[in-house]
Amino acid sequence: MDIASMTVEEISRQVGDKPYRGKQIFNWIHKQLVTSFEEMTDLPKPFREKLKLTYSIGSNLRKLKTVHSADQTTKYLFQAENNTIIESVYMNYHFGGSVCLSTQAGCRMGCVFCASGQNGLERNLAPSELCAQVYNIQREKPKINHVVLMGCGEPLDNYDNTVKFIKLISDENGRQLSRRSITVSTCGLIPQIIKLADEMPAVTLAVSLHAPNDSIRKVLIPAANAFPMPELLRACSYYTHKTRRQVTYEYSMIKGVNDSLINARELAKLLKGSISHVNLIRFNELKGLDLRSSTDDTIRRFADILSGSGIKTTIRRALGSNINAACGQLRNTILASR
Ligand code: SF4
Repeated sequence: MDIASMTVEEISRQVGDKPYRGKQIFNWIHKQLVTSFEEMTDLPKPFREKLKLTYSIGSNLRKLKTVHSADQTTKYLFQAENNTIIESVYMNYHFGGSVCLSTQAGCRMGCVFCASGQNGLERNLAPSELCAQVYNIQREKPKINHVVLMGCGEPLDNYDNTVKFIKLISDENGRQLSRRSITVSTCGLIPQIIKLADEMPAVTLAVSLHAPNDSIRKVLIPAANAFPMPELLRACSYYTHKTRRQVTYEYSMIKGVNDSLINARELAKLLKGSISHVNLIRFNELKGLDLRSSTDDTIRRFADILSGSGIKTTIRRALGSNINAACGQLRNTILASR
């Protein structure tokens, strides 16, 4: 049994013994970042031996590869149980370090512009495997103060484990990461957005919009066929209403697909009056895919139209573009070489 995926209460219930054991064990795993029961030196030896027989401390991620870029972005490839390959990225911003985590190995959403979905879904990652990505990177980069669930996988397609991870990483007995510093990204799974608003109101929601209307969106994101934009925007309004937090809309700028000035005006009309923020992203071009990034000039003009309509807009810095930093790219190179 994976004790690193359990809350303090669950550990206490499971291991029995003294009432404070749950907190002690949780603290060793999520604060002291130990990976073996031997290191939990304030537990009696016979008790540690007993724990070893029943529990494992998550899956010990093995670092396979690290790739650094000039802008201090670092990409990590980890090997988890069952030979699963996980990809994570560390990014350095003026406000500190941010880690982009994978929530699934692969993805079944099939977005046409994304490398992660090209081989389908292998499996969901456990809460402890999400934590382990942060903790492994933290050993090298101690100043992580933001976590974004925007790597391989659709976090809300692995809803229970995603929510459990947020509980574990923000727990006062462990890493104590503020929930406000956690961003959950989704391609727009409406029922889970509503659920998240009700259960995890402090986290930030980022929605991959990538289009100003359903006809373009359905081509880019097959999941959009089940979740039309008017309903998606209603779910986002509910999120804002419930959480008092603005929703971030991610918009990858793809040449000739979604980047015309007509598209910009359409998007501006759609989002006018909403409490939101648009991130325009330079599209990360993928080998073998006939999609190109919009030019810087087009992105600027697109941004001007949105800003001119009163919509908060940022052009996101393209980090790590020389190291296959778009989600799934590096993982795919390893899978292809097997
Ligand atoms: S963009 Fe996100 S949801 Fe879409 S295929 Fe890639 S990982 Fe999955």
